[in-house]
This record gives sequence, structure tokens and C-alpha cells, in this order.
Amino acid sequence: LGRRINAAVGDFSSSSAADDSGIEAMLKEISNALLESDVHFQHVIKLRNSIKKQLAEQADASSRANKRKLIQKIVYDELVALVDTQAEPYKPKKNKSNVIMFVGTQGAGKTTSCTKLAVYYQRRKFKVGLVCADTFRAGAFDQLKQNATKAGIAFYGSYTENDPVKIARLGVEKFKEAKYEIIIVDTSGRHKQAEELFVEMQEIDDAVSPDQTILVLDATNGQKAQDHAKAFKEASNFGSIFLTKLDGAAKGGGAVSAVAATQTPIAFIGSGEHVQNIETFTPKQFIAKLLGIGDIQGLMEHVQSLDLDQKDTMKNFSEGKFTLNDFQTQIGNVMKMGPLSQIANMLPGGMGQLMNQVGEDETSKRIKRMLYIMDSMTKQELASDGKIFTEEPSRIIRVARGSGTSVTEVEMVLFQQRTMARMAQSTKGMMGGAGGMPGMP
Ligand code: GDP
Ligand code: MG
Repeated sequence: LGRRINAAVGDFSSSSAADDSGIEAMLKEISNALLESDVHFQHVIKLRNSIKKQLAEQADASSRANKRKLIQKIVYDELVALVDTQAEPYKPKKNKSNVIMFVGTQGAGKTTSCTKLAVYYQRRKFKVGLVCADTFRAGAFDQLKQNATKAGIAFYGSYTENDPVKIARLGVEKFKEAKYEIIIVDTSGRHKQAEELFVEMQEIDDAVSPDQTILVLDATNGQKAQDHAKAFKEASNFGSIFLTKLDGAAKGGGAVSAVAATQTPIAFIGSGEHVQNIETFTPKQFIAKLLGIGDIQGLMEHVQSLDLDQKDTMKNFSEGKFTLNDFQTQIGNVMKMGPLSQIANMLPGGMGQLMNQVGEDETSKRIKRMLYIMDSMTKQELASDGKIFTEEPSRIIRVARGSGTSVTEVEMVLFQQRTMARMAQSTKGMMGGAGGMPGMP
């Protein structure tokens, strides 16, 4: 998405067409890119008008290059504003029973996400129990039981009782008596947002009086997400959204619209089928990812808080450069930063995906090998943008031998550095003069 917007803006700033028709063509392309990423058309129209208005206000004072920066900044800022509801995320209290109810259609990922959240809180030293109030789907209790057992979480459910309201009430009562601090109630979902589902939801709600209701929203639903979230909001007034399946082909724009339409924040993101694939949500990071620019701001803040030596890299980056030397510094710092999983998710160039595929230990090993590879490069090679290797491929073989790795691994390093360099190029306009992200003071 980011690439298409950049291309559209780039065409505009380099074309010789008259301003007006150039702007129209560019706005059209940006709109199409956003629509194809599942952002609802109402928001696209607003965004378009906002760009037009702000461009007109600055019409004379600005060169085309400045307009380019301005447009990129507007797109970023407006999308962030759409998903940033300013609401405080729900915080369960210790030494008290916090009842959390999950709602959503069948297959959205409720049962999976319940377990993820249970484990998430258990790791944060809460006493957690799961209640299965899904009597609609055959095997629902077995699924929850299996998940819970595997994760070492207490659970409640029944093979014989058919009334989900009764199970929910009994389960919550039992866990409350035993002083459980987080009690998560999994409910059923029909294929559609049918009336019976909403009635059942309401009855369970009355029976257990949840402190928080979470809507599980499937990110692969695309444009439908907005209407879907609206319908559920009326029936259950959920307090936050758990956005699932963002690891697949989902583009995320649907979720942007769902948040905007219900003014309800996303609390968590599901990024895979495994119980550890749960992430907390931050608006800037989410939009940066949607635009394909990585969470540079988050990374910068984190890095600044660590007081690592990398002023040169940040300076290079904000000027649109990223050498192998910069890459070496970055990777070296990543090793110091830990926990790796958090950092990897902020990095572009597929590091987060790599993590998810092979796990933290294996990623550490691979990153160490990347460092060996760069240790085997000459000063001249490190200071370069990497082209020197394409021009003289024998260098790749030499480095592979010297570092005890393979040609493929060296090529991987070069590929990732190129990806970062390209990112530096494309975000150059967005970083502003002082090297800060747009929207930052
Ligand atoms: P429910 O009917 O709402 O309870 O949905 P389930 O929890 O049974 O999940 C339906 C399917 O979605 C299962 O195959 C899950 O493994 C899958 N699923 C859930 N969350 C995620 C996710 O974040 N990423 C991916 N890739 N799959 C998920
Ligand atoms: Mg289920």
C-alpha cells in the first residue's frame, strides 16, 4: 500500500502535467490503493478531501517536493487518527474477579483467542480460568478443553448441559468462589449475525455481567468488517476488539474502518494459530505496517531509551541511505535490545515473519550468523550500499567462506539490507527534516 501511494505521489511530483489534473490523477490512485486495502469508501472520501484541502491551503508556498511530503504525512496522520480512539485499554485488577466475555461469529477465532488471552494474563501472574459457553458447535468444549489443557489453564464446561446461559453462570460462579482473577467466557457464533445469536449473547451477558466484552474480528473479512462490527456493537456493546488472522493475506484496512465506525479500540492482534501469536495494538505501529514502512517510530523510541550508539545510522536513514555498516550496527543493537520477539515485529524486511516461523532461539542463532557474515566484510564493502557485491559476485563467495556460512545466507543479508535501504528511500519524505516521524512533536 505504501509503495503504491509513494509511486502515485512520485509520479505527481515528477510529472509536468498541470497541477490540477496531476493532483486528480494522484488522488485517484491513492484512493484506489486504500480501497483495495479494504479501507471503507467513506473514509477514503474524507481522506481525499482532506488532502485536497490541505494542498490548496499551501498551494503557492509549496514546491512539488514539499507537497509530496505533505501528502504522505496526511495519509499517515489521518489513518492513525482513524484507529486511535484515545480510549484507555481495559486493565484487569489484581485480587478481584475480572469477567471477560468473548463474542463474534463462528470461525472468527474466539476459542483460539480466548486461550491466547488466558495465557497472556497467566504469564502476568493472574489466576486464570476459561469457561466454554458454546453448546452450538459440536466439539466446541473439546476444542477449548484441549487448548486449555495444553496451556495449563483451568477450564469449565459440560458435555451434557445444552443451555449456554446456565453453563456460563455456573462456570463464572465456580471460578469466582475459587478466587480466580480472570474468568474468560467463550461463547458460540452462528454463521451469520442471526437474531438468536444476539439474544443468546444478551442472556449470557445478563447472567455473568462481564467487566469487559471483546469482539473477535476476523481481519480477512475485509470491507465487511465495518458493518459487522456495527451490528455487534448494537447487540453487545463490546469494549474492545481482538483482531485475528492478521498474519495471512489480510490487509488490515477493514479493521481500520471497524474501529472508526464503533469508536472502540483494538486491544489485541492475533498473528498466527499458536497460543503465543498475540500482540498488543498500537495505532502508529499498525498504520506504519499497513503502509509498509515498519514501526520506525516505535523502534526509534525504544532505541533512544537504550542509549545505543547509532546516531550515524539514524542520520543516514533520515537522509534516505542505509549501508551495510548501518545494518551491522542495527543487528548488533538488536542483540542487545531483547526480548527479540518485540523488536522483530517492529522491523521491516520480514524479520517478524522469520521469528514466527522458527521461534526465538533459532532467530537468535540466525542473527548471530548475520553478524559473522558482516564481520567478514571489508571496510569498503561495509561502507557501501551493497551494489559492490552484485558487481563482483566473487566477494559473496569469499565472505561466505570467511564467516563459515553459505552463499545463500550472505545473499539473504544483502537482500535485507537492500530492503531497508529501499525503505529509507521511500520514507525519506515522511521522516521530516529533523528525522522524526510525522505526527510527532
Ligand atoms: P471460533 O469459531 O470463533 O471459536 O474460531 P476458532 O477459535 O475455532 O478459530 C477458527 C480458525 O481460525 C481456526 O482454524 C484457528 O486456528 C484460526 N485462527 C484463529 N486465530 C488466528 C490467527 O490469528 N491467525 C491464523 N492464521 N489463524 C487463526
Ligand atoms: Mg469457538
